Amino acid sequence: MPSAACDEADTSEMNGGDASFAQVMGTGTFRSILPDTVWPAIAGPRAASLLALQYQLERSEWFPPEQLRQEQFRQLQNVIRHAGASVPYYGKLFAEHGIDANAPLDDAQWSKLPLLSRVDIQQAGDTLISTAIPKSHGEMTSLSTSGSTGMPVTIKGTALTQLFWLALTLRDHLWSGMDPAKKFGAVRFMKKGGAEFPGERHKGWGGAADPVFVTGPSFVLNIMTPVEKQIEWLQQTRPDYLLTYPSNLMALLTHCRHNKVAIPPLQLVETFGEILPPGVRDATKEAWAVRVVDMYSTNEVGYVALQCPEHEHYHVQSENLLVEVIDEGGRPCAPGQTGRVIVSTLHNFAMPLLRYALGDFATVGKPCPCGRGLPVLTNIVGRVRNMMTLPSGDQIWPTFGASKIGDVVPIRQFQLVQKTLTELEFHVVPQRSFTSDDEAKMRALITRELGPGFQIAITYHEAIARGPGGKYEDFRSELPA
Ligand SMILES: [Zn+2]
Repeated sequence: MPSAACDEADTSEMNGGDASFAQVMGTGTFRSILPDTVWPAIAGPRAASLLALQYQLERSEWFPPEQLRQEQFRQLQNVIRHAGASVPYYGKLFAEHGIDANAPLDDAQWSKLPLLSRVDIQQAGDTLISTAIPKSHGEMTSLSTSGSTGMPVTIKGTALTQLFWLALTLRDHLWSGMDPAKKFGAVRFMKKGGAEFPGERHKGWGGAADPVFVTGPSFVLNIMTPVEKQIEWLQQTRPDYLLTYPSNLMALLTHCRHNKVAIPPLQLVETFGEILPPGVRDATKEAWAVRVVDMYSTNEVGYVALQCPEHEHYHVQSENLLVEVIDEGGRPCAPGQTGRVIVSTLHNFAMPLLRYALGDFATVGKPCPCGRGLPVLTNIVGRVRNMMTLPSGDQIWPTFGASKIGDVVPIRQFQLVQKTLTELEFHVVPQRSFTSDDEAKMRALITRELGPGFQIAITYHEAIARGPGGKYEDFRSELPA
């Protein structure tokens, strides 16, 4: 078992983040369906669709905002016409709000549309499903979302929505500068197997990269696997890229730092599913000399925003979703402002979601210096239920030095729970028993980050459970919303 010190990790490939499609085309080998014709490769039907979309995405990402908006409305016009005619929920809603589904779509028409909430989706049931899904969109797919808000919903899609999901997955691989010939590992939620599950090996990377490129193998491990076992697995499978949740990345980093182990030849960690706390990128660079690429995706609508190939903020995936960030008065947020994230699906003709309030908040950014016209989000700040209420009554999304906590005292897991306006509970799974000095240090760190006025009780646990869908919350509030 290799057990080199963390600081000996290979740093030679750290600067691969600005690879464009053209550069990857130079390193990745296209897959050909004709065994005797490998160059240039003859793409199969699925690869041809994905490559044709990628060709367009490579161009549309540079469109100025007005052009993107225009194209989005051109597509949304079709969605609205379809929804008005075949989705009972929208037929009624459009009538109630004086929306003519056949009138040219403009900002005035659009703003008449009320927001759609998760409760609306639950209550609408089958009336949100089209009675005339175009046959050309392929088979209907069904996805039950995790219900981490305690309100599970089922979202329908089609083979077409699936194709867009794959196209954006491929864009993500390309933007991240991944070489598809290398090894890809994932530690994530899996329906099968628990902590004892040994993981799976696949011949390729999956439905996005495999049809297009000759891919290396991939490995998947269940997120329920204890951290020590994950490290062993990473050392055995030796992936170049790792996909996992930010909370799991932090647990791996803490373990590596305290046990002086490395996981070569890892080059890049891609995080998803949770908010990436500040400091985790730097901590990963420091411990492993590895960069972090984060993404913003949701179960209901897929990729909302991907990290810019050249910067650490996110570009909205405008070719698949219209994303609005609005303030409390419903007005669009200006750069620097944080507001609610509202999404509209451009290609879901089975269950169109129009102006759906995801429940997330994000900060709008200025146009990106990289030149891409896709709108910028600088920060994804979380859900209302993850807001902390300060003793003053002010609400914040708490940052409490999540990445520093493991440095104060070695811990396996933690979660901060707000019980009342002035009482917090710090739940911890320690690596060793805390001394009273450790407890004092921990309280001091939290107080320094959050400000005074809280009583902090520290409670000890064997494990802290992940929520439905494998998500882990380092903060949750038990105050009534
Ligand atoms: Zn950019």
